[in-house]
Amino acid sequence: MFDKILVANRGEIALRVIRAAREMGIASVAVHSTADADAMHVRMADESVCIGPPPSSESYLSIPSIIAACEITGAQAIHPGYGFLSENANFVQIVEDHGLTFVGPSAEHIRIMGDKITAKDTMKALGVPCVPGSEGGIADMAAAKALCAEIGFPVIVKATAGGGGRGMKVARDASELEKAFLTARSEAKAAFGNDEVYIEKYLTTPRHIEVQVFGDGKGRAVHLGERDCSLQRRHQKVLEEAPGPCITEEERARIGKICADACANISYRGAGTIEFLYENGEFFFIEMNTRLQVEHPVTEAIFGVDLVQEQIRVAEGLPMSFTQDDLRINGHAIEVRINAEKLPDFAPRPGRITQFHAPGGLGVRMDSALYDGYKIPPYYDSLIAKLIVHGIDRPAALNRLARALGELIVDGVDTTVPLFHALLQEEDIQRGIYNIHWLERWLETNLRA
Ligand code: ADP
Repeated sequence: MFDKILVANRGEIALRVIRAAREMGIASVAVHSTADADAMHVRMADESVCIGPPPSSESYLSIPSIIAACEITGAQAIHPGYGFLSENANFVQIVEDHGLTFVGPSAEHIRIMGDKITAKDTMKALGVPCVPGSEGGIADMAAAKALCAEIGFPVIVKATAGGGGRGMKVARDASELEKAFLTARSEAKAAFGNDEVYIEKYLTTPRHIEVQVFGDGKGRAVHLGERDCSLQRRHQKVLEEAPGPCITEEERARIGKICADACANISYRGAGTIEFLYENGEFFFIEMNTRLQVEHPVTEAIFGVDLVQEQIRVAEGLPMSFTQDDLRINGHAIEVRINAEKLPDFAPRPGRITQFHAPGGLGVRMDSALYDGYKIPPYYDSLIAKLIVHGIDRPAALNRLARALGELIVDGVDTTVPLFHALLQEEDIQRGIYNIHWLERWLETNLRA
């Protein structure tokens, strides 16, 4: 059993891990940049180490500083949270080379899934349905044209090394192909230092459905249903819910089993998310995230499990605390991401929080690192809180969300809270009828007007 874990992250996710560790009797070490000396995760951890100046490249991404912090404090394991070093295979290798435990999958699995072509090939071989498209990378325009003649338009050109919605370009017909191909390539080169791209059929009205998987690293794996994360702005999730409003029990069992079997097959360790686009009753794999997701709490709510504690258990070599048969869905959960941003442009608005009051009551969870007087630094992500509600069914969860949003007070900075008040009034949201383009269209007509 570990007795001390270092959390290589900040903000709400650092608190999330510190809380899980404390309940397991494990001490926690926070690391922080000089800009975060007063941050909540530093206050809440048992110990803290300053690892560098504000830019994350010199602090939260500084591998030597994080390893040194482990050595100074005697932490035996590192939980990476999400973002930062969570999907960096090289980091995992270095952690293990220092005799420390990485709370997450193996370096090899992170590497496979981090390269989108290899990920797709691997998943295809494991029987996971994929979006029709190129076998591997597309070398030149001739190859691109030949493939499109085969699969038909529209298509999407995507960066092999892609992430965060960058390096993706849609071509609606043959006349748009060359531009899409060249732009995706140059964007990929600029953003990831790798200009390899591949081409997929562009699905026009899909939902984003992702399956939560969990493996013990020894050949056992389960699925914890799906989350619908179709409400997106610029490919970034805004609101997530579980179970998916359009997914039937049979579909869940079928795709869930495919995903769990795939993970069992490769002896995947820890939490993972297999992302799909879902259209006309069919699932199409797009990518796998080899870490805890921002939206994991909606899954925790409906299954009554603690995914972070489970990650720590399997990192210690213990078996998972549940089997597939133990996992039963109870009710419905919704998460909204509250960002320090000003509408309608979603421009980041760091600054001082003059008043903060978190909602409470039955079925309400607030994962946030805010406190009265906290000054949000300008250097990091603008996510400042996640409000998660759980109800007996979807209508109850929606009512609870409206009630909880009404209780929330965040003064001093602009936030995305008004967006959620407005969305709750929409009939499509109330009925759960939306695809990945719904929010962009709604923002266009409602916020610009
Ligand atoms: P990233 O890693 O950059 O987030 P993803 O492959 O996960 O890239 O895709 C992000 C989003 O882009 C998806 O949620 C979806 O909205 C859109 N997208 C990706 N591939 C396709 C496709 N083949 N057809 C339609 N939309 C797509």
